[in-house]
Formats: sequence, structure tokens, C-alpha cells
Amino acid sequence: MLLTFKQTRKWTHRYALVVLSTLLPVVLGIGIIIWQSSRSLELEARATAEEAVRQFNLMLDNALLAADAVLPFAGQPCDQVELALREQVTRRPFVRSVNLVWNNEIYCTSLFGTFKEPVDAANYNQGVLWLMPGNPVTPDQPLLVYRQERDQAGAIVSLYGLHLINVLSLINPYTQLMFAVGNNSIDRYGVVHITPPAPYPVAPVTVPSMQYPYRVMAGFTEGTLWRFVQARYLGLLALFIFLGCVSGATVGWLQKRLSLSSPSSELQRALDAEEFIPYLQPVVRGNTKQWAGAEVLMRWQHPTEGLVRPDLFIPLAEHSGLIVPMTRSLMRKTARLLAPHANSMAPGFHLGFNISAHHCHSLELIEDCREFLQGFPAERIKLVLELTERELVVPSAVTHQLFAQLRAMGVMIALDDFGTGHSSLSYLREFNVDYLKIDQSFVAMIGADALSSPILDSIIDLSTKLNLGIVAEGVETQEQSDYLALKGVEFLQGYLYSRPLSPDDFITSVVAQHQAQS
Ligand code: C2E
Ligand code: CA
Ligand code: CA
Repeated sequence: MLLTFKQTRKWTHRYALVVLSTLLPVVLGIGIIIWQSSRSLELEARATAEEAVRQFNLMLDNALLAADAVLPFAGQPCDQVELALREQVTRRPFVRSVNLVWNNEIYCTSLFGTFKEPVDAANYNQGVLWLMPGNPVTPDQPLLVYRQERDQAGAIVSLYGLHLINVLSLINPYTQLMFAVGNNSIDRYGVVHITPPAPYPVAPVTVPSMQYPYRVMAGFTEGTLWRFVQARYLGLLALFIFLGCVSGATVGWLQKRLSLSSPSSELQRALDAEEFIPYLQPVVRGNTKQWAGAEVLMRWQHPTEGLVRPDLFIPLAEHSGLIVPMTRSLMRKTARLLAPHANSMAPGFHLGFNISAHHCHSLELIEDCREFLQGFPAERIKLVLELTERELVVPSAVTHQLFAQLRAMGVMIALDDFGTGHSSLSYLREFNVDYLKIDQSFVAMIGADALSSPILDSIIDLSTKLNLGIVAEGVETQEQSDYLALKGVEFLQGYLYSRPLSPDDFITSVVAQHQAQS
């Protein structure tokens, strides 16, 4: 069965909703886990960096104390202060050497005593700190140099780079740390970079020292986030995926239930499953009582409810607009079933379909009728469209064109349930009405209510004067039949002659009658 565009769209919507409700908890869950993991990593990086700053400050405090101690000696001859410098090296942890400066020149060191080397303040970040990859004595060992100056006097204290590396690698083995002074930086592997350091790719944090001009950068390498999620949140991730599946399945199940319980989608389902079938009620000639045609009455062959009467579902079908494709399907099915037996029907055999007012506002009806007629040998049958007087078609340019074309095709129009509505003469003309079908309520009054006969009589008179054919519906008794025949009513329809028949029964009767006549 081919899916219509509307159905395809509906299925796409349903599918999209199920996918969305599956993905939503998963995406949301992954989002929360990633956010939580990033936050945890960032907190860890910050805590590690802060601890490192604390330790580096402690180290530099020793350099500061050593410098404070020797600065007052600056300017004095080296051989007099050399010992004082060495004392600081011995007493202060982390300190590697202590040097005195006079007029921007190192003139005395704890290492060599008298020594001459110019000092370039520009090497020092804010004139205070210099991270060196090595010096002429130990070119491969990084060192951190702290500088103090007062007027011409100055003190320079160098710290072992090894202690920096120890702090960087021992505080937290999982967090990457970098000690940075200006553009120079050193990592836990002891490599000194002299280009501005790039932040770490995951949870990058920079904590500057408040006391000394350096900063500590912390963070994690690429892929740490995913490894962290795997290590900490795998169970939670699985739970969110499970919740997504449950939510998707629930939405799918609810949708199915809703669509099954929605009446119009149930009609749509029935239409797709071709459950609407024709029943045919013969219309007999008033004089001979021979079958002159049949009215096609829709039945719903419901899979569990059995055969459903049209008055139970036609109003809903009209309301939802499904009546149009339902009628089209009924016409096609009727043509398919009857066409092979068309030769058993008298030429000009009438086949009437009930058409809702809604259907008359589209020119598609012309195509439906053309297709129906093409299913039969030419001139074999007369197609009659029954429009109920209860719900009159509102005339418009489209209906005008529609009824003109239908007339040109030889399609006839019957005004159904005549006497129950308010059609006017101009209405009869506008829609080229050929037959009036007297409503069964008037027929039922024959013999029961003396007042009804004048109404019935005047309807019959009117149709004669207007040159319209007349059909009496709901003939149940012989008395009614006789009365109507006497009044010259051309066509009769009712249980007296036949109830609506299944297509099989109808065809059997038509074929039998044909054989009896020939
Ligand atoms: P309707 O067009 O007036 O159809 C005649 C109804 O009277 C049919 O009821 C028929 O079974 C019933 N009937 C026939 N002879 C007698 C009789 O002697 N006594 C009594 N009491 N009833 C008789 P049915 O088949 O239940 O259809 C009811 C209505 O549903 C129809 O009234 C028509 O308005 C609507 N309908 C049926 N098929 C279609 C359809 O394909 N399209 C549309 N739009 N409406 C339809
Ligand atoms: Ca009818
Ligand atoms: Ca009727």
C-alpha cells in the first residue's frame, strides 16, 4: 500500500518525536556529566595551582630573607662579606648562591668570592625574578634568580631549579603544572621555555602570586576529560542512555495509543486498510417493480466491531474532511466490483452515491466521476450523485463550474431527503437537479397520518411541474407501495423490495434477473 504524502509526513513527525525523546535525556545527561567533569577538573587544577603558589612563595621567602640579610653589606669589599654570603647559602633552604651588586655589577658571590659580571635589570620580570635555563657554571640546570636593589646596592639570590621541578611534579601527579615568569616558563620535566606559555587544553587555570612576579599555570592534557568521565561517570552515562531508551519507548508507546484512540486517525487507518465497503440497495420502478438502479451505501467492515452503520461514522468523516477520500475509495471499489457484471444490468442502470456538501467545493469530484464512468462500458450505467437537503451546498464559482461539467458528462443529481430542508426553486436550478428523493419520513406517514398525504401529494405535483424525476425512499409496506405507484411515482426504494445488499448478494440477484429475462 502506497503511503500518501500526509502519512509520510505524519510518520516522519512521529519518528522524529521518538528520536528526540530518546536523545534528549542522553544529550542532557552527557551535557551535565561534561559540565560536572569540567568543573571538577577546573577545581582540581585551581587547588593544585594554589598549593604550588604557596610552596613557591615559601621558597622565594627564603631568597627574600637571604637578600634582606646581605643587602646592607653591598658596597663593602668582597673579602669582608664573602662569609656572610656563604652563611646565607648554608642557612637558607633552596638557596644555591647569594651575590652582591654594586652599580649594576655583581662584584662578590658566595660561589667564587670576587667576581665581575654586569647585571641587566631587563632580564628580570618587574626587575625582581628571572627564570634561567642554566648559567655558565651549570648550563643544564635551570635556576630561579631573585633580585633586590636599593640605590646603587643590590643582592641577587639564586634558587635551585630542581626544587621548582619537585614541586611541579609532586603536588599532584594528575595535574599539569607550569611555573611562569614573564615569557619564561618551566614544566615538571624541567624544560624551560622562553616563549610565552600556552594554556593547557583542558580546564586551564592561571594563579598569579600576590607576593612575587610569577604565576602558576595548571590544567590537563588533551583527552583527560573523556578519561575522567570514563573513570568517574561511566555508570551515570549508562543510566542516562537507559533513561533515553525508556523515554523514547514511552513516547512511542503513548503516540501509538493516542493515535489508536483518536477517532479520525482510526478512520484514516480504516481508509488505508480499505475497510469501507459498498452496500447496494436496489431502486425499483414504480410500475413494474423491476430494478432500475441502486443506491450505494457505505459500510465499515471493522476488524473487531463487524459491520458499522454509516450514521455512526459519516458525521466524523465529514468533520475531519476524510469523507472525500472515503467516497473516492468507495466509488473505485464499487466500480471494481460491479464493472465485470455490467452486461447483466439494464442499459442506463442508475448507480447513486451520497456526496457530502464538502466534496462539492473541489473540482476533483469531476475526475472521481469520470474515473468511475470509465470503469464501465459506455452508456451502460447512469451515475447519480445524491446531495442531501439537510446540508445544502453553498453556491460559488467552483460549484457552478463543477455542476455544469458534471451535467456535460451526463452525471445526474438527486436531492436527497427532500422535504426535510429548505431548498428553493433557484437552488434546484443552480445545481441542475434531476431527481427529488422524498424523505422516508413522509412515506412512513402513508396510511398512518391523514395529514401527510397532502404534503406528499404536493411534493409529487411539484416534481411533475418542474419536470423532475421522483424517488420515494423507505417504502416498507404494500400499502405505501400501492399508494405511490398510484400517484405515478417513478422510482421506489425500501425494505419492501430489498434491504441494502452486500456486493456479492447484489451481483447474484442482478445476474439472476438478467438470466431470467433473457
Ligand atoms: P440516506 O442517503 O437517506 O440513505 C438511506 C438510508 O435509509 C440507508 O441507511 C438505508 O439503509 C435506509 N433505508 C432504506 N430503505 C429503508 C426502509 O424501508 N426503512 C428504513 N427505516 N430505512 C431504510 P443507511 O445505509 O444506514 O445510511 C444512512 C445514511 O448515511 C444515509 O442516508 C446517508 O445520509 C449516509 N450515507 C450512507 N452512505 C454514505 C456515503 O457513502 N457518503 C455519505 N456522505 N453519506 C452516506
Ligand atoms: Ca441517499
Ligand atoms: Ca435519504
